[in-house]
Amino acid sequence: MRVFVALLLLSTFLSSCARQADHKYTLYVFGTLVELTLYGVSKETGDQAVALLTQGFQQRHKDWHAWESGKLGDLNTAIANGVPHKIDKDMVALLDQAREFERMSRGLFNPAIGKLVAQWGFHSSDKPGGPPPDKSRIAELVKARPSMEDLTVKRGLAIPRNKAVQLDFGGFAKGVALDWAAQLLQRHGIKNAVLNAGGDLNTIGRHGSRAWRAGIRHPSHWGVIATVDLQPGEVIYTSGNYFRFKQHEGKRYSHIIDPRTGWPVDHIVSASVIHKNGALADAAATALSVAGPKAWVETARNMGLDQVLLVDKNGGLYMTPKMQQRLTLSEPKSKTIAIKDPFALGSLKNAIKAHGAAY
Ligand code: ADP
Ligand code: MG
Repeated sequence: MRVFVALLLLSTFLSSCARQADHKYTLYVFGTLVELTLYGVSKETGDQAVALLTQGFQQRHKDWHAWESGKLGDLNTAIANGVPHKIDKDMVALLDQAREFERMSRGLFNPAIGKLVAQWGFHSSDKPGGPPPDKSRIAELVKARPSMEDLTVKRGLAIPRNKAVQLDFGGFAKGVALDWAAQLLQRHGIKNAVLNAGGDLNTIGRHGSRAWRAGIRHPSHWGVIATVDLQPGEVIYTSGNYFRFKQHEGKRYSHIIDPRTGWPVDHIVSASVIHKNGALADAAATALSVAGPKAWVETARNMGLDQVLLVDKNGGLYMTPKMQQRLTLSEPKSKTIAIKDPFALGSLKNAIKAHGAAY
């Protein structure tokens, strides 16, 4: 009996330790609230790291703003005027990443289409409304084929050759920022943490004796469509049309634009990617939304992804076998469909179509 009471006290003590081991902070990054949970560190260490994170996020928000003046805004002005512009090392690295993601996605992810994004009203802090933009203006911008390849970088100088280019890093900046944040936390000796920026997560280590768990939101209601346990260092990023969109006469226009047509993505309502690199996962989730149900397999292969989930506007789910193995679906009934792509990743023949938070 005494042993039992002792064990009971011990387990009560341990579970209260586990609760105390969590420190939660809320930060504001690029218009999104970021929830940071640190596990097993002192409050002082947490507070110090969070002060540095806050400062770094604010600086990046200013530097990478797509439509206000700052490092990116000034570069965009130079591009529009067709004049070379001096850039720092961080901007060179960002341009390299942007170019690489455009290449990997065969142009479906294209951070040079800022003018198209602006035409659709997404370069504003207000909720965009009103009718779609003029069709001929959109066609003209598509015809000008803006691309990251139109910007050459030589010895810290960005040399533009297409005035239709306007840089917009909204599709991968959050990933770059969270990757930086995770590295900073690790440099401060933090071994277990999760950063959650509106459902885009970077993890470090584990949540005590278990993995960090992510919930993927159902695109059409507030519930969770699936949960997944993330391995240390894994990230999960989701692009969706249910947070930021333009609405006119009952029709929704996504903030993800297909660079080939200049029109918002219509069929895919959310795309999620698990990887180890947040910037790539962020860019890939956007690219897969553009690729849609016909081209997602090929795009996943081109971008080196094997863990992908897509949800279409009819509630259909598409996923790679590895994603299927890992996800716990809220509505587990699923139908197997054959994927005809002969280049499909491994056994993608088993990809499924079905109906169907960090902690
Ligand atoms: P979220 O902000 O919901 O995480 P995304 O990561 O998909 O969504 O980013 C969407 C943003 O990316 C848009 O608001 C726009 O700034 C930019 N964007 C839109 N279409 C593209 C595209 N085809 N390629 C690259 N960036 C895009
Ligand atoms: Mg993205």
